[in-house]
Amino acid sequence: MPGVAALRPPRFDAAADEVARTAAAAPDWDALAATARECLACPELAAARQHVVVGDVPAQGRPRFALVGEAPGATEDQTGRPFVGRSGALLDELLAGAGLDRASGAVLNVVKCRPPGNRTPKAVEVARCSGWLRRQLELLDPPVVVALGLSAATWFLGARTVLGRVRGRPHEVDGRAVWATYHPSAAIRFGPNGAPRAGLAADLAAVADFLRRAA
Ligand code: SF4
Repeated sequence: MPGVAALRPPRFDAAADEVARTAAAAPDWDALAATARECLACPELAAARQHVVVGDVPAQGRPRFALVGEAPGATEDQTGRPFVGRSGALLDELLAGAGLDRASGAVLNVVKCRPPGNRTPKAVEVARCSGWLRRQLELLDPPVVVALGLSAATWFLGARTVLGRVRGRPHEVDGRAVWATYHPSAAIRFGPNGAPRAGLAADLAAVADFLRRAA
């Protein structure tokens, strides 16, 4: 059984470095998307995927916000688009309920390829894919980020993040207001009367209010 140290990514990972340098060189979204679709940095994910799910962006202009999830699921892998399965349907419903227009935001994931069996992405996969997300955020420059679930919250707020302690208010990260909340899949798992669904709906409403005040 591997120890904790074996689960950590290596201190220097040539594949992560290569992704970061390639992503940083992308001059715009289209160039980044085209290059990311060819990415082979995580051999297990690259061998199993149907699509690299790069993300959705508004038809034009700067996104009002970016939603960032953990990784694509089966429907996302089949279609090549983020949050289009059951979780996506619930997310769309709750966004609409909060008065947020999905089309005015970007929809991204920390990891762009589906982990087999929907397992949690490994630390080394997150580290390798981080170069793409970092450059996406630089190019899109959303003023507000909504991190959906613990993996995304941890990516922005640090390894010791406890979702219940950080949600409900914005955190400034690199000049952006980062909100962390439940992943829609948790809202589905705990049912329509569960705390994650109510928390996600309340947090999206708070984000919508924050955006209205900032406008
Ligand atoms: S998960 Fe990210 S880094 Fe890994 S192969 Fe897919 S696009 Fe590349």
